[in-house]
Amino acid sequence: MALSPHERSRYQRHLTLSEIGLAGQERLKAARVLVVGAGGLGSPAALYLAAAGCGTLGLLDCDRVELSNLQRQVLFDTTALTLPKALAGRERLSALNPEIRVIAHEVELKAANVRELFAGYDLVLDGSDRLATRYLVNDACVLLGLPLVSAAIHRFEGQLFTYRPGAGPCYRCLFPEAPDGLVGNCAQAGVLGVLPGVLGTLQATEAIKLITGVGATLTGRLLIYDALEMRFAELRTARRADCPVCGATPTIHEPKDAQPMPSDGVPEKVRRLSAAELDELLRRPVKPLLVDVREVDEFEAGHLPDALHIPLGELPARLAEIPKDAAPVFMCRSGGRSLNACLLAVRANIASPANLEGGLRAWAASIDPSLKVI
Ligand SMILES: [Zn+2]
Repeated sequence: MALSPHERSRYQRHLTLSEIGLAGQERLKAARVLVVGAGGLGSPAALYLAAAGCGTLGLLDCDRVELSNLQRQVLFDTTALTLPKALAGRERLSALNPEIRVIAHEVELKAANVRELFAGYDLVLDGSDRLATRYLVNDACVLLGLPLVSAAIHRFEGQLFTYRPGAGPCYRCLFPEAPDGLVGNCAQAGVLGVLPGVLGTLQATEAIKLITGVGATLTGRLLIYDALEMRFAELRTARRADCPVCGATPTIHEPKDAQPMPSDGVPEKVRRLSAAELDELLRRPVKPLLVDVREVDEFEAGHLPDALHIPLGELPARLAEIPKDAAPVFMCRSGGRSLNACLLAVRANIASPANLEGGLRAWAASIDPSLKVI
């Protein structure tokens, strides 16, 4: 996979980086990466991988470009409206970098075709917005021994995770109960347009590191980005021996089409409480356990009486402080971090966790204006 003089000019800034250099650029040229979902996440991921000289780039999507996509799906412009995304995306990527091969897969990913589609690739990026697809992609990657960079977005928050075969947990190890509340349905929940730009670009970064072998990937770490509060948090997580797909005695041996999930992606095991509903609960004789997952400075500025303080980043290690039958109410500033806390609680078999929707900002707005929320 030697570079032509023309390619040496194109990738000059990579060649100058000693960590990448000629050998790394040749690895990029030899790499075959499949981007599942040519949407908000897949757009920046595919654009940067094409620009970076990823030699074979697959783009899998069965939808067509709609006007409401253009707020975030920067792979397309207005002239691409109504065109199949896979085909319009291929055209755009080929125009950006004619040196690479772009393959359009205008199909819906299914258990029946996933093995065949993935067979031609070394690495998969998942930016799909369907929970069923997320598990299907994970299971196929585990079964085929393919690394996977998975991202999800919801309103103002996103998460990122990298699976490396044999080297760390898979997506099911993190979320075995099919809960991922961050698998946003952008149509229903809305999404800040620039948010997938951040997460998709991080996906491309992980892919380039996996291909060239530089740096440390997000293996065993779930990265959470909160755009409203401009915070990155990280949850360390280990492989589960009882994981149904990558564990010691797996029960999943073939990719399966999952059952459709609730349309908003929030698991049924997480209760959603409005500020008014929480207010009503707190007036009862037996009050629920309140768990505030914000950072120390936020908690010290103002919090609800008797709230247990466990910053989200510490929660995995401190879940034992929450009794299994406590039915805790998790809260943060705006409801994003606490939703992740609920998902961790579900995973730890804590019964009936609740999320304060809209967070303490909603509480301050509708119940107690004297509460200081920073
Ligand atoms: Zn697993």
